[in-house]
Amino acid sequence: MGSLESRITAKWIWTEPDQPPLENATLIMSDGLLVDIHKGVDATAQNLGPVAIIPGLINAHTHLEFSGQHEPTAPMRPFANWIKGVVAQRRQAPADYPQSALAAGLDELRTSGTIGFGEIVTYDLARADLAALVSICTDDHATNIQGRFFREVFTLKPENISAQVTMAQKHLQVSQELGLAAGLSPHAPYTVHPQLFSEVIALANSERVPVTMHLAETQDELQLLAEGTGSLAQLLQDFDQWPTGVFGNRTVRTELEGLAQCVSGLVIHGNYLTPDELKWISGQPSLTLVYCPRTHAGFGHLDHPWRRLMELGGQVALGTDSRASNPDLSIFRELQFLQGAHPDLGPLDLLPLATSKAGSALVMKNSSGRLVRGERFLATLVRSPSHSLEGDWTNLLSAENEACQLISLQA
Ligand SMILES: [Zn+2]
Repeated sequence: MGSLESRITAKWIWTEPDQPPLENATLIMSDGLLVDIHKGVDATAQNLGPVAIIPGLINAHTHLEFSGQHEPTAPMRPFANWIKGVVAQRRQAPADYPQSALAAGLDELRTSGTIGFGEIVTYDLARADLAALVSICTDDHATNIQGRFFREVFTLKPENISAQVTMAQKHLQVSQELGLAAGLSPHAPYTVHPQLFSEVIALANSERVPVTMHLAETQDELQLLAEGTGSLAQLLQDFDQWPTGVFGNRTVRTELEGLAQCVSGLVIHGNYLTPDELKWISGQPSLTLVYCPRTHAGFGHLDHPWRRLMELGGQVALGTDSRASNPDLSIFRELQFLQGAHPDLGPLDLLPLATSKAGSALVMKNSSGRLVRGERFLATLVRSPSHSLEGDWTNLLSAENEACQLISLQA
């Protein structure tokens, strides 16, 4: 092979996240592609020792515009007060926002071992000061991180719907020009008029792009939909956004059905999905429930139904959400958090949620969440300071372990 070939040997190499790893195996890369993986130590390879190489980690849900925050927005409870805090922060944001936040967020994703992410966009990707930043996230760039950029839209006012749809169309067009993977994100049922929702779904289907939406996040949201009352109703009145004839006698079922029609529909949070809704979701192959474990814990929600959905055969992926609700953007720490809280599960149960499941939900071109011969080599390296990976791969998600991107070691 030519001079661009490189070889790495490691104690554990995972090619499929739900299968046990190869022990003492060797990877061969050339021109950024994975050429071969085989068992056995190769004397000519760089030996990384008692580490694990796993398919590159993928964060299915974040909002990088809050990445400049050192700690989550307070108070986190009740939820309506957290929303007010976030709105106030946006109004006070510095002039270079979100350029500095986007740069900090991308940096944090890469240094914590993430190679793919789903971003909620509230800014204009065509802005000249963002071009260099977002260009590193395109499908074919060699910086080892790819994003899918979901344009967020919301309004409860019928007269504002067409402007939101136009903004969504422009986003899809600009993303295509920039070579970025795009999607659409009607924000949540408490901010999106039903007509805007159906127009966004129609647009997403005509352009074949995925759609993501915050759904069944709080009991207040379900109360607003069902009865038109509660703290979110009050919040909308405080912001002078109360619509007539929108709330009452509703559930999130219409939204779930809309998302299920898309090439991929990502249900963000879903903290309070009912048993019937979970059962229905489990029969929809295009739907993925995105669970953000530490954000969920920070808000003090009741038990999350992700395990029930997995038992039913449904798709689950992990996200961090943003630094407005999470201490950092490390999807590896979300895996470690889950491993600590669910000791009856192991890496083969958990790793797919931040690799193959997240990759297929985001429909990422080069990030399948597996290490596949002939594809772009996008991998994450896991090290154990106490060498706990020396003899036992089941320690992969131990709390002390650290993850970073494994940049292809080519000349
Ligand atoms: Zn979110």
